[in-house]
Amino acid sequence: MKRDLWDAKHKCTKCNEIMKKRELVVESIKVRGWECPRCKEAVLHPEDAQKIDTSTWQTYRNEEFGFELKYPGDYFIVHPSLEEFSISGLALVVNLESELFPMLRILVKQLSEVQYNAHVEYIHTLRGFKEITIGDTPAFQYITCGSAACSWVITFQRVTDQYEILPLMSDEFDGTEIPEITNQILSTFRFVE
Ligand SMILES: [Zn+2]
Repeated sequence: MKRDLWDAKHKCTKCNEIMKKRELVVESIKVRGWECPRCKEAVLHPEDAQKIDTSTWQTYRNEEFGFELKYPGDYFIVHPSLEEFSISGLALVVNLESELFPMLRILVKQLSEVQYNAHVEYIHTLRGFKEITIGDTPAFQYITCGSAACSWVITFQRVTDQYEILPLMSDEFDGTEIPEITNQILSTFRFVE
């Protein structure tokens, strides 16, 4: 039988104590790990360590809209060509290897400043409204509900381009926080010339 590393016991290399399972926070990402009760030496679960090591991630660069972001090696970018998605700035970050989400949908729409400000007035009243920063740009995070489901939306504007990033959550939206991996992908977003 295959034994999960997570269930195995690990000894501290310094003091030989059995390390305790811990949820560690590295660069604001929650990861699994073990901590020595004596010297507090911490070891990350290798799977999670790989996830937070963005230096091994691939870079997606969108020349048309002048932005880039990084995403894990087992994810990839799709530009859907379906009629209803025929929006020029649409890109999906997907992980088809797994039934598990998150995925990320990025939309770029043309919107005047007046329209955008009106939009912000409106979303201000919505659940989960929060001011955040995406790649040094002030942004807003909120929950929007349609007839079928609710979803998170992150929006920001650059000149007349309105960006909408939708972290797609697994099956039913239950108002939980945006998954850490999604936040990690978002933290790599930046505008390029
Ligand atoms: Zn120790």
